[in-house]
Amino acid sequence: MASVTYSSTRGGQKNLDFRTVVMTGLAHDRGLFVPDSIPTVTTEEVESWRGLSYADLAVKVLSKFVKEDQVPADKLEDIVKRSCAAFRHEDVTPVIDVAGHAVLELFHGPTFAFKDVALQMLGNFFEYFLETGSNGGRLAVLGATSGDTGSAAIYGLRGKKGIDCIILFPRGRVSPIQERQMTTVEDSNIHCVAVEGTFDDCQDLVKASFNTPEFRDRVKLGAVNSINWCRVLAQTTYYFWSYLRVTDKAELKDKPVSYSVPTGNFGDILAGFYAKKMGLNVGKLVVATNENDILHRFFTKGEYHREPIAKSISPSMDICVSSNFERYLFFLAGNDSEKLASWMKTFETTKKLDISGDLLQKAQSDFTSARADTKMTLDVIKEYNDKHNYVMCPHTAVGVSAIRQLGEVNSTMVCLATAHDGKFPAAVKQAIDPLPDAPKQLAVLSELPTRVSDCPNDLKQVQEFMEKRIAERIASQA
Ligand SMILES: *Cc1c(COP(=O)(O)O)cnc(C)c1O
Repeated sequence: MASVTYSSTRGGQKNLDFRTVVMTGLAHDRGLFVPDSIPTVTTEEVESWRGLSYADLAVKVLSKFVKEDQVPADKLEDIVKRSCAAFRHEDVTPVIDVAGHAVLELFHGPTFAFKDVALQMLGNFFEYFLETGSNGGRLAVLGATSGDTGSAAIYGLRGKKGIDCIILFPRGRVSPIQERQMTTVEDSNIHCVAVEGTFDDCQDLVKASFNTPEFRDRVKLGAVNSINWCRVLAQTTYYFWSYLRVTDKAELKDKPVSYSVPTGNFGDILAGFYAKKMGLNVGKLVVATNENDILHRFFTKGEYHREPIAKSISPSMDICVSSNFERYLFFLAGNDSEKLASWMKTFETTKKLDISGDLLQKAQSDFTSARADTKMTLDVIKEYNDKHNYVMCPHTAVGVSAIRQLGEVNSTMVCLATAHDGKFPAAVKQAIDPLPDAPKQLAVLSELPTRVSDCPNDLKQVQEFMEKRIAERIASQA
């Protein structure tokens, strides 16, 4: 059987295979790749997966999309198993009961945040595709980060054959823990660059590099940002996994399971939407935002309006537009790429997109939403610590606040816990004092040697730095 194929939401590229879509990231017409068909699962099939380990379940879910024509079955299994082995918990993403609802802990990977689930997998797929002929065997991954993405990418790509990973971050503007998670990695293929500038400057340098075709092709540039389809696909597994763990309880068997997801770029919750489209018995999908609430405004009023970024205590959700949302808009547009392209054009020129009537109703039947501000978030962290002896990171607390605001606290509700509280001590300390001990892997970071290069906010100098580093590495391997 052939694998699922993919086309750009804006219609410029059609029927591409999984390998191409993973290696390309963003479509050439700036659209996002979406599956041309969504494979389905039956209730019986999901039931037959109940006894599987997380890794075996992930193989089942991924092989719905990825067949032997893309990755041989034994290779797919090897990629999935090695990705899962990087997690500290034997369940990879354990599900626990707290305060009358479930919590899906996604932070047991190397960098203590949910992005590890996808980036461990993406790193292994990149390596396999390079080994088997893609890109002439080399890839220079360039990314900008304000925190979590950089470290998760670095841990996903460290030591990988054929790959150099260059991460730009704004000097002095990422949290000390996040900076050290990046700069203490010693592998020679990892290059951390502290740029004299802001996060936006770093992002502009990345975009400009991709827009310099000659440079892009010479260094074989690739991207790891959250729009890579592989990341969404990797995340669908934990919706199936947590569904099965919740319905392990005899009294909850056959009940729909709902999910509350702390949301920024809409990548995590989109995986839940695809799980539902595959046929998983999903009830509600709750979009939980902080003060950067463009998605909450969309799902309550039909207004997708860009506003300036507000700095919150859940920084990984501080966005003004949601980079994965275009995939859902494409679905709302009835898979009509012309309509979608015109919507995106409207949004890009006016910073506004409005929907109403049937379309808004449709969106509201797929998702509900809520917004938590700083006080609500801190109150939840404090209450769960005081009453339930459970400590949450501020992102997770936004998701928990959402289900309380919506009156959806019940035994079939799963709140996704997206990071470990120990990663955000300054915020958590405002609710819990003294802080619980940090995990030892985070506590030792301040004692480890660091390796980082400084660079001015200058495209030419950043590109020269990259070429020099890559040439040195190729020479050392020759
Ligand atoms: C990235 C991130 C989020 C938001 O995920 P999206 O896929 O962008 O919606 C939430 N919490 C944490 C801790 C994150 O790192």
